[in-house]
Amino acid sequence: MEVQVMKNILGANEETAESNKKMFDYAHIYVLNLMGSPGAGKTCLLEKTIRHLKDRVRLAVIEGDLFTDKDAARIEKLGAPVVQINTVGGCHLDAAMVEKAADKLNLEELDLIIVENVGNLVCPAEFAVGEDEKAVVISITEGDDKPSKYPLIFKESAVCLLNKVDLLEHCDFNMEGAKKDIAALHPGMDIIEIYCKKEHGVDAWCDWLVKRVEAKKGGAK
Ligand code: MG
Ligand code: ZN
Repeated sequence: MEVQVMKNILGANEETAESNKKMFDYAHIYVLNLMGSPGAGKTCLLEKTIRHLKDRVRLAVIEGDLFTDKDAARIEKLGAPVVQINTVGGCHLDAAMVEKAADKLNLEELDLIIVENVGNLVCPAEFAVGEDEKAVVISITEGDDKPSKYPLIFKESAVCLLNKVDLLEHCDFNMEGAKKDIAALHPGMDIIEIYCKKEHGVDAWCDWLVKRVEAKKGGAK
């Protein structure tokens, strides 16, 4: 019974996600669903990304959060269009929420939308929102067992950002082992090491992103 209910919920979400995707495709906007645990550095990554790309790419952010608009306020400060979604305790974003949020953006004036999902390594990976691709951010302070403990999010994501790598010497994080686990779950997955706070690796990340934005603009995707 419960399995059937879950199937129906996911099915309805899939339909809305497909229609969102069509809307974004029509506008040639590359949409990234940015996932990761609380404190992994998703919002910090967005801040640095906006600073790096703001003269090259027309970028907007859809901010998912349980109750607050703290992250949206940080984005707004940088001058990027941002729409807040409060899930009121809900642990992931769904396609209907993103559909409503997108309604508040001027799609004709955008090349890239990054959706910051609710901080959670589990169900955000199950609910498509109409994105082109998903990305997962983990901080090495979370431990190197995260890929094997939360396989779906790594299987679903096109890229994994390993954040706070400058703290490696202070953490029991086996970099080689973690990368092996990721490669086993998702062969060929892109892995980018960053230390967002100091902007290490942010260039490589922005190059990854711009390649995709340009492909989508050219209709190549
Ligand atoms: Mg955040
Ligand atoms: Zn959830």
